[in-house]
Amino acid sequence: MNDLKDFHDTSIAFGYKTDYELKRAYFLFKLLTYPLLAYIGKHVLSFLIYIRFPIDFIIKKTIFEQFCGGVNEKDCYKVMNKLNQNNIKCVLDYSVEGSDTENDFENTLKRTLNLIDLIRKEDLTSFIVFKPSAVGRFDLYFKKAENLPLKEIEIAEWKRVEDRFDKICAKAEKNSISVLIDAEESWIQEPIDNLIEKLMIKYNKKSCIVYNTIQAYRSDRLEYLKHMHIRLADFNVKIGIKLVRGAYMEKERERAKTNNYKSPICETKFITDENFNNCMNYMFDNLHDFHLFIGSHNEKSNILATKIMSRNQLRNNDNRVWYSQLFGMSDHISFNLALNGFNVAKYLPFGPLRDVIPYLIRRLDENTSVSGQTSRELDLISNEIKRRALKD
Ligand SMILES: Cc1cc2nc3c(=O)[nH]c(=O)nc-3n(C[C@H](O)[C@H](O)[C@H](O)COP(=O)(O)OP(=O)(O)OC[C@H]3O[C@@H](n4cnc5c(N)ncnc54)[C@H](O)[C@@H]3O)c2cc1C
Repeated sequence: MNDLKDFHDTSIAFGYKTDYELKRAYFLFKLLTYPLLAYIGKHVLSFLIYIRFPIDFIIKKTIFEQFCGGVNEKDCYKVMNKLNQNNIKCVLDYSVEGSDTENDFENTLKRTLNLIDLIRKEDLTSFIVFKPSAVGRFDLYFKKAENLPLKEIEIAEWKRVEDRFDKICAKAEKNSISVLIDAEESWIQEPIDNLIEKLMIKYNKKSCIVYNTIQAYRSDRLEYLKHMHIRLADFNVKIGIKLVRGAYMEKERERAKTNNYKSPICETKFITDENFNNCMNYMFDNLHDFHLFIGSHNEKSNILATKIMSRNQLRNNDNRVWYSQLFGMSDHISFNLALNGFNVAKYLPFGPLRDVIPYLIRRLDENTSVSGQTSRELDLISNEIKRRALKD
């Protein structure tokens, strides 16, 4: 047990970055401090991609290398090895979005199953992740969520979606790999929650294979968590939960306003933070049943989790608790946690350059709009650059 006070030792945080990589990160985050420039840049980028303007090299050398591990799994090995040397695992994330056809869904399935073989062989990580919308049609989830009658052809389609979830979890179980299932828009989540609960009952008896995601910005999630806990109590299973705040706030609010229903999102950031802490506390209080994967760049949330672990006399490397940040962001949190013996896994997105653009644009958005985050990242990088210059 070990109390972490803060994450500000930049020599630990950026030890694995070369001077060039550090300066590139500085340049990028500096640009993001100018919201207007970032806004224009984002739209110009989308336009240039749309007209197939040859800017791949520039994207690759800037945002792509900052936020992605490579274009394919093998490309990611270099980053994975570097992180592994610092006791940080990776969650390889094939971040291609916009799947819409059965062909796309089957490809994602095939790719995810191959990925399990690959990471098992290389022994570099113990998690994989997928998005429900990458293995099933968004409108089908929506129909299920709304209890709308399915046509015969859609009943068969839903069965294929269930099969894809099952095949991934079955293979993961066989290879002792855990599966994180991302959460997306609230209006498709209910059938996904139900499906994942069934998979937990099937695969989480001996160890925690299947993890659902709780978005704490949804005001109903603590209740959901408690009810799920009661529902699963009789099955003697481990409940895997990835806890995040949630990434679709503006979209959720807009839809609620347009369709005139109460927004499912907490009214303020403060309430989201409270909800996040309450969900986290609930799971730590019931750790005999839960496995917790904390996905956050919030320093306070991460420190709080380490404090609760210390108070509850848990070992830092208790295998029921994992911490995670996205690659290219909040290295100071990941590296300091890992150095203190906590379990850390970085989400490592990869995919063909043009196909991961939506993911990259979301990162630009997040780093521009989340108050404090960019300037914090920038201060840390700049301190490290100064520290290295003084040392030389
Ligand atoms: C490893 C990992 C996995 C992730 N997986 C998912 C996933 O499956 N699904 C998903 O949706 N997101 C996912 N995210 C993204 C995550 O939900 C957040 O968008 C992001 O991490 C920012 O939250 P934070 O806790 O890091 O930081 P913070 O900066 O403390 O929080 C920012 C977040 O607070 C909330 N918020 C901000 N302003 C308000 C407001 N006015 N009112 C109410 N709430 C507000 C929003 O959720 C916002 O994203 C993941 C993040 C990580 C690191």
